[in-house]
Amino acid sequence: MKSHRLRAAILLLVAINMAALTGLLPVVVVLARDGTVDSDMPFFENRYETDHFVLKWTNKSKRSGDNISDPQIIKDSAEYLETAWGKYTELFGRPPHTAPGKDKMEVVFWDNDCYGVSDPPDGPIQFGSVAWVNNPTIRKPTSAHELFHKLQYAYGYRIRWNPKTPYRWFTEGTAAWSEAFVWGRVSLDCKVCTLFKDTSMDLYEADYTAMPFWVYFVQGNKENPNNQLMVKFFEKCEQLHDERLALNEVIKETYGSVDGFFKGFAKERKSGFWNNACVPYKCILGPGGQDLVEEVKALQGRWNRN
Ligand SMILES: [Zn+2]
Repeated sequence: MKSHRLRAAILLLVAINMAALTGLLPVVVVLARDGTVDSDMPFFENRYETDHFVLKWTNKSKRSGDNISDPQIIKDSAEYLETAWGKYTELFGRPPHTAPGKDKMEVVFWDNDCYGVSDPPDGPIQFGSVAWVNNPTIRKPTSAHELFHKLQYAYGYRIRWNPKTPYRWFTEGTAAWSEAFVWGRVSLDCKVCTLFKDTSMDLYEADYTAMPFWVYFVQGNKENPNNQLMVKFFEKCEQLHDERLALNEVIKETYGSVDGFFKGFAKERKSGFWNNACVPYKCILGPGGQDLVEEVKALQGRWNRN
């Protein structure tokens, strides 16, 4: 992905320089805008439309990894996206971000070397065809995850404000939380297990493995989860343009002491985090169908006995 983009950017720069010398600049600008210079994306001859999405795919690309021959894969994915859309709009009271002037969100499938991308904010959701065809169990959680990035954009993230580095504990962490919130499963088992295997890892460096922190934040490890806290948190982010400040304010309002909250989390990381958890956090399946919550419990049980 990144190397493709870098190569395309260099090509574009060279082309612009050459064009400036030869007086051909307008032609190059047109080429860049329609995507033939800055993307390896294939042409999509197929299209499937639902209430909120337009899905596009190919089965005629010269690069075999782009191709999807079974349209049912696309129809299933559309259904997963619509399910996530419904859950998000119900909880958050607003739809994910759609590009200005478009009434539906574009979704494309091609060989982009990853499970999915929702970047830039106005661009399409891009699912990786190779992963999509070969690993059917990632389709549900990855659909929820990529659509959640679009919901983050609906709160102005990357449109009206940018988080401070490191920020992936927030952007990827909450998107990983959404996988469990919508489906009770994740696309990679490390999203649930890593924070417990390495209890000294700094939360802010945890990237998408910060996911259990967000479960803890909404009390998903208690009898009555409070998913509304995620709504409050994103509303605060929108007001304050600062994810750490926003989180601290919601913690203060809800739990009293910010310090006490983080200490409580650090303690539960080491012992008994997932006792009495409720659906959908009680059982979180990994891509192989294994219950990752049980794996964490077994891990903590081992430590507690030592
Ligand atoms: Zn992501």
